[in-house]
Amino acid sequence: MSAVIEVENVTKEYAGGLYALREVSLTVGPGESLAIVGPSGSGKSTLLNLMGTLDRPSAGVVRIHGHDVATLPDIRLAAVRARWIGFIFQQFFLTRHLSAIDNVATGLLYHGVPHRERRRRAGDTLERVGLGNRLGHRPGELSGGEQQRVAIARAIVGEPALLLADEPTGNLDQASGAQIMRILTGLGTAVVIITHDASVAAALPRRLEILDGRVRVDTGVPR
Ligand code: ADP
Repeated sequence: MSAVIEVENVTKEYAGGLYALREVSLTVGPGESLAIVGPSGSGKSTLLNLMGTLDRPSAGVVRIHGHDVATLPDIRLAAVRARWIGFIFQQFFLTRHLSAIDNVATGLLYHGVPHRERRRRAGDTLERVGLGNRLGHRPGELSGGEQQRVAIARAIVGEPALLLADEPTGNLDQASGAQIMRILTGLGTAVVIITHDASVAAALPRRLEILDGRVRVDTGVPR
């Protein structure tokens, strides 16, 4: 089956000649999961933002399901992002005044799904992450691990092909972090996870090491 995302010779240059990424290439297949590791400032977040179409490369190509994102007008790009990509962040970014179920339902706002159907699917997805008994709780009434599970439910409720996670266990204790990793790797969705945590990287079948904006090691590429 075709790749979920292809990054081909991508370079990101900032003003002043600073290169955040240099000629980075990687391909992620359906359901594949991998860790991106590397020291602070090595280009991990820049790569994740480019994969998430939140940023555009200075050179090179990013293709989502075969679509070169550079050729898409902003409105199509927003639609591709909403349809195919889910995001998870270290800080959860849940809306404080909304219940868990309404937070998750916001993940379907751009899918043309009627309100009642959004809430039904949000409830089902919260069941999937083990929070069927917390539908009405607000973020402040949930533990960190539970809040991250709500954020995962919001990211997957629209059934994206690719999940992008930036330090998803960074704010959690070890047990909650391990549970989050079990959920993320058990979804069947392709998932790319930035992590500083060696145990998180070890839980994933593929590891991409970045240093000074270049890929140093990609255990998913046959030599
Ligand atoms: P990491 O996620 O590995 O810590 P980043 O991708 O955030 O690294 O950053 C890579 C490099 O690009 C760093 O040197 C950083 O300072 C630089 N950088 C990131 N974003 C910008 C920006 N908006 N403008 C200028 N330089 C940036």
